[in-house]
Amino acid sequence: MKPKVGKNDWYTITILCSKCQTSLYKYKKEGGGELIKCYVSNILEDYTNGDLCCPNCGQQFAREAIVHNRPAHKIIGGKVIVRGHHGKSK
Ligand SMILES: [Zn+2]
Repeated sequence: MKPKVGKNDWYTITILCSKCQTSLYKYKKEGGGELIKCYVSNILEDYTNGDLCCPNCGQQFAREAIVHNRPAHKIIGGKVIVRGHHGKSK
């Protein structure tokens, strides 16, 4: 039995390296709240080399993890900047 997620809202965000502000992912975020992980299936564009490191400065920004039985990248605190639309999608 799957718990039903109440919020069907999602929005697109861009995840940037906190050090050099290089774009890392374009990501489809489900629901509200802070970004603590990225589900791999929700990554719309991947600008990295797939090694969870910034392609420009080499800083590691995430760790591979399984969250709710889905492959995910757990964001390391303070390593990324998120830009995007908060609130409800139009
Ligand atoms: Zn960087």
